[in-house]
Amino acid sequence: MPKETLHREVVIIGSGPAGLTAAIYAARADMSPLVIEGPQPGGQLTITTEVENYPGFAEGIQGPDLMDQFRKQAERFGTEFIGAWIETVDLSQRPFTLHTEDHEIRAETLIVASGASAKWLGVPGEAPAPQGLGGLGVSACATCDGFFFKGKKIVVVGGGDTAMEEATFLTRYASRVSVVHRRDHLRASKIMQDKAFKNDKIDFIWNAEVQEIIGSPETGVTGVRLFDNVKKEESIFPCEGVFIAIGHQPNTQMFRGRLEMDEVGYIKTSGRSMATNIPGVFACGDAQDNFYRQAITAAGTGCMAAIDAERYLDNLPVPTPTGEEITREGERVSADHETLTLPDGETVPNQPEAEGAQVGGD
Ligand code: NDP
Repeated sequence: MPKETLHREVVIIGSGPAGLTAAIYAARADMSPLVIEGPQPGGQLTITTEVENYPGFAEGIQGPDLMDQFRKQAERFGTEFIGAWIETVDLSQRPFTLHTEDHEIRAETLIVASGASAKWLGVPGEAPAPQGLGGLGVSACATCDGFFFKGKKIVVVGGGDTAMEEATFLTRYASRVSVVHRRDHLRASKIMQDKAFKNDKIDFIWNAEVQEIIGSPETGVTGVRLFDNVKKEESIFPCEGVFIAIGHQPNTQMFRGRLEMDEVGYIKTSGRSMATNIPGVFACGDAQDNFYRQAITAAGTGCMAAIDAERYLDNLPVPTPTGEEITREGERVSADHETLTLPDGETVPNQPEAEGAQVGGD
């Protein structure tokens, strides 16, 4: 069956706070955005429980309910959604082309809001409830869930800056935070290490690997099974919460080699704008931000990306990486300005109308 072709002014990849905020702004600017939802519609907030730090919800709101509100608001202004896995992306010329199993999608501007995913250990007990204890004492976000661990004993897994930051943050609530790290020294920056070492609520369990998170739906987490990889011994360490802090992976693999990124894969944007190295492609949210990583900051950058896309289209024709220019009407002016390719594919000489009429009249 031939693929259905869709051609839109703004295509947004991702439906977390960044993508849906971009959609709300783009839809209200009459740009008829198309949102491509990935494998986790709604993004990381759909796997959290109560969100208490998103402004506007004085009593807090469940993560999935918050994302449902975002989505309804985007739909209200005419955002279109498709749920699909993107197979290929061509950013070499505008409109950019994306292929899914059923669609060829042409995008005059593209907003990458594909988010990031917390890395997990892959051990028994870690999966979201009901399969495991995820949400019942296992988390990957101290800012989201730390509050629920008042006076409790917590394990933080990891030895990088995220682990130090999470551990330090969690001492606001927890009675004790034990950092479990698989080696005998940390990867974290010195300043973050010093902060953690100086905090008398934090201790370290070195050369230890978490092999299992123990507990039940009734009790929540009750401990972790540790393996000391030097002494080759197993032990059970009692605790009431486990925070996995072994890093995040931005979901940007499909843009590798096309969009400029840092070594981890976070897309680089330019100064205060959300513009990437390719004109017409913008990035926002956790695909672009490895520093704040909050729902509210993701939403903010989603808003910025939509405004940037709108202004970009308003200022066409603009040069593309190939040297061609695209006019507001979707015509392509060749790099040497000799020819004009009309939206229907017809190529004509790039001459002022009157001049062209004279030539044709001869
Ligand atoms: P990192 O990759 O720096 O650290 C990950 C840590 O988790 C490492 O200690 C690693 O162990 C450990 N780890 C990885 N996989 C496993 C596993 N399967 N089992 C057990 N342990 C594992 O990630 P971060 O998220 O900490 O940091 C990412 C980037 O973000 C860094 O550049 C960091 O500086 C930055 N960042 C900055 C912050 C700040 O400045 N405020 C806050 C948070 C992050 P090992 O060391 O043995 O490889």
